Amino acid sequence: MKENLKIVIVGHIDHGKSTLIGRLFFDTGSLPEEKINEIKQVCDSLGKEMEFAFVMDHLEEEREQGITIDTAQTFFSTEKRNYTIIDAPGHIEFTKNMITGASQAEAAILLIDAEEGVKEQTRRHAYILGLLGLKQVIVAINKMDLVDYSKERFNEIKKEIEEFLEEINIVPSQVIPISAKEGECIVRKSPKIKWYGGINILEALDTFKIKGGAEMQSLRLPVQDIYKIKDKRVVVGRVESGTLEVGNQIVFLPNNFKTTIKSVEVFMNENKNKAVAGESIGLTFNNQLFFDRGQIICIEKAMPKVTKKFKGNLFWMSNTSLKKGEAVKMKCATQESSCIVKEISKRMDSSTLQVVETNADELKNREVGEVVFESDKELVLDDFNKVPALGRFVIEKNLDTAGGGIIVNLDDDAFGGSGAV
Ligand code: GDP
Repeated sequence: MKENLKIVIVGHIDHGKSTLIGRLFFDTGSLPEEKINEIKQVCDSLGKEMEFAFVMDHLEEEREQGITIDTAQTFFSTEKRNYTIIDAPGHIEFTKNMITGASQAEAAILLIDAEEGVKEQTRRHAYILGLLGLKQVIVAINKMDLVDYSKERFNEIKKEIEEFLEEINIVPSQVIPISAKEGECIVRKSPKIKWYGGINILEALDTFKIKGGAEMQSLRLPVQDIYKIKDKRVVVGRVESGTLEVGNQIVFLPNNFKTTIKSVEVFMNENKNKAVAGESIGLTFNNQLFFDRGQIICIEKAMPKVTKKFKGNLFWMSNTSLKKGEAVKMKCATQESSCIVKEISKRMDSSTLQVVETNADELKNREVGEVVFESDKELVLDDFNKVPALGRFVIEKNLDTAGGGIIVNLDDDAFGGSGAV
């Protein structure tokens, strides 16, 4: 079986995301012929030439109706691997999805319209890629046909975006001139862009690495639920990182309850005795358990931080501001708590990265802040850079997801003290 890489395509609205996605499906022969004919017919009847954005809309429509295609199946293939495109940006609010962790993208294509150049949303999306630690990035400068495939225009935009990306520690692996509409430099070399000697989009994607590696990190299994089956108690959850096996000594945090794994239970597989990151499993233990969802299963030699206070880089996306001193709901993996906003040490504009204010009283819509929270109960957290699953959190206000961010500087004594438990 071929390996699979998950990618996300981001950029300002109308810069060509859907068109590029449609093009990738079409030019890699990943769409069945009847589907292509169907789309051609619709385009003909509308008196339009083949619109590749249509392919995307078509897939989206089917997905909404739940017919054949779900997110996991919208993929295209190269000789090397399969690619899954996560989300159809533009159709769903990208920032929200990306930040709330629904997105597991391992690489990104940042699209910029050659005519319009770098826009506010381009920078905001790029910022979020940086925030989430997505470092495998291709910049594609699209609609080159509208600027006569001008090398000068390309270089101008390339310089501007590279300077911005440098500030957020992203070095794009490639900056590629393309025309999604005409199919230039997507899956083949373009005779129209002779001055460009580099590789095309597909070749650039194939150079990316599959992230994997979560199984190499320390064990973290957030408890989703505890089922009572006859007299047995089965703890269920997804192994977010690390590995476990029957006989392992583990500890439930923050309760600090230590026990040994008695069995690993998976539906239809009675003999399983091991599990790795990414698997959803059930576990039974040698001791009785008296607690609920929200505990995190870890091993003693590689503990996360148990703390009430933490600092995060927060992206705020609600019309009502986040105010210093207010209480909000925080969610991290299966943990939930009420948190007080203790400090907004920095308030930044997400599209310019300018620090607008230090020690601010509020964070407005689309602003980014460095925020210190204090929870009403102990939380089990990791630095985002170490274990992303326990380093990423969401803030709810008035029952709506209003912000999301990543946990930073957790080892700083001011945010969580020095001991793990
Ligand atoms: P999205 O909002 O980023 O998904 O953008 P779309 O893919 O819907 O494209 C917006 C418009 O730009 C559509 O009318 C496309 O046909 C057009 N477009 C996309 N790519 C190109 C291109 O390479 N050249 C030209 N001339 N138009 C393009």
